Amino acid sequence: MLIGSIINGEERKEESRNSMEVVSPYNEETVAELKLATKKDLDDAVNSSFDIYHSTMKVMPANERADILRKAADLLEERVEDFATIICKEAGKPIKYSRGEVKRSIQVLRFSSELAKNIFGEVIPMDAAVGGENRMGLVKRIPLGVVGAITPFNFPLNLSLHKIAPALAAGNTIVFKPAEKTPVSAYMFVKLLEEAGLPKGVINLLIGTGEEIGAPLVKQDKVHKISFTGSLNVGKKIRETAGFKKVTLELGSNSPNILFEDADLGYAVKELVKGAFAFSGQVCISAQRIYVQRNIYDKFLEDYINQTNALKIGDPLNEETDIGPMINEESAERAKLWIDDAVEKGAKVEAGGDRKGTILSPTIMTNVDENMKIIAQEVFAPIVSVIPFDTEDEVIHYSNNSIYGLQAGVFTKDIDRALRVADKLEMGGVWINEISTYRQDNHPYGGVKQSGIGKEGVKYAIEDMTEMKFIGIKLNNQD
Ligand code: NAD
Repeated sequence: MLIGSIINGEERKEESRNSMEVVSPYNEETVAELKLATKKDLDDAVNSSFDIYHSTMKVMPANERADILRKAADLLEERVEDFATIICKEAGKPIKYSRGEVKRSIQVLRFSSELAKNIFGEVIPMDAAVGGENRMGLVKRIPLGVVGAITPFNFPLNLSLHKIAPALAAGNTIVFKPAEKTPVSAYMFVKLLEEAGLPKGVINLLIGTGEEIGAPLVKQDKVHKISFTGSLNVGKKIRETAGFKKVTLELGSNSPNILFEDADLGYAVKELVKGAFAFSGQVCISAQRIYVQRNIYDKFLEDYINQTNALKIGDPLNEETDIGPMINEESAERAKLWIDDAVEKGAKVEAGGDRKGTILSPTIMTNVDENMKIIAQEVFAPIVSVIPFDTEDEVIHYSNNSIYGLQAGVFTKDIDRALRVADKLEMGGVWINEISTYRQDNHPYGGVKQSGIGKEGVKYAIEDMTEMKFIGIKLNNQD
């Protein structure tokens, strides 16, 4: 497959362009050849999105926007296997999880279609202010204009849709730069939007690297908002260079999961195996730290090791596979170095710890401390640490002792304790009796501290992708 940028409906993939390959992280087979965007393409994409916003999107009725999103959902529903297979090949994500991602993406489109018809304003009681009598105040929610969407490799379809679908629901146009490691499903989706009836140029796709296309996109004056999901380092750069634009940053974490002594142990073990190792831990809310109250620690660890060792490692296209490759060899090598570093400092490998090419076996660590990289930083690999604790205060302190604060899981049958702990955790979201790794597409989602700025989840993304406009009326004919 040969892929180029799509600007104003035209694909730019001439032979003379610089190329890059997308290769399967599992077997290095070529998935696609990319023809890269140039600086001129970037300018053309931004100008096109800007002009089409003013000529088309700004005046498109909500019912039409809703229809396009609904048709896109219907089309995606017909093509679950095509999209899942491509995600599986380009990202190395096991097919069962790839399918799950496509199904979630359909829901994002359906939520967005419904909400496109429900973007309400308000009426302000102007006479509440002394001297405000005989005035009427209206607040409308209007689109921002051009949204720049920059997305990561790990959920190449669903996280792109968390930007594209709310942006369209709200009436914006989009310049979209997907991750260069996994742009194929994103490209297929942009084509699908055209079939669903989206006018040319409402979404312009740029195929290129972060340095060459992402960074200059952030600086463009005609872009009104940057919606970014990715790493902390890149997020910091975006924040520094975005100028007056609105910015949403969905960044990383080292998510804690806390098991109190009254937790349903069998259930927690089973869920936390998925929570730490799904897509080889390359999930922003992957369970990275598991804190277990001391009197259930040994039992938890034994069962957890047994179930982890039973995971099936192999070809992501195989229906049975639980653990496939990491995104590339460099990432797997980096993760292995972090394990070695922790071991040198006294940590113990209880399961896994081996690397073969891009595959790192699911790894459980104990005897860790807060200065080790596998605890202090985002591990983004199939590595989890299991840590005993004694008191509630102590585990809250450990959990909060992080630069991140995205999502946490708390397992207990005591509702008072659950809500007390949820209040004290410095997180964007807390799940009770559910793993930190669980996310639905309609709740507010986004971190505190260095996990990010702003919220996604369709309704909340729409709020961030619209502006309030006040219109006041003086009723002159009244005394
Ligand atoms: P990344 O930051 O390397 O890349 C993300 C995107 O940014 C890519 O499209 C890349 O090309 C682009 N980019 C790179 N440098 C840029 C620059 N200077 N300016 C503008 N754009 C640039 O992240 P990744 O490795 O693809 O994804 C993994 C990271 O994403 C992890 O840290 C993970 O936690 C985070 N993530 C967060 C969430 C969330 O919702 N909070 C979800 C998924 C992933």
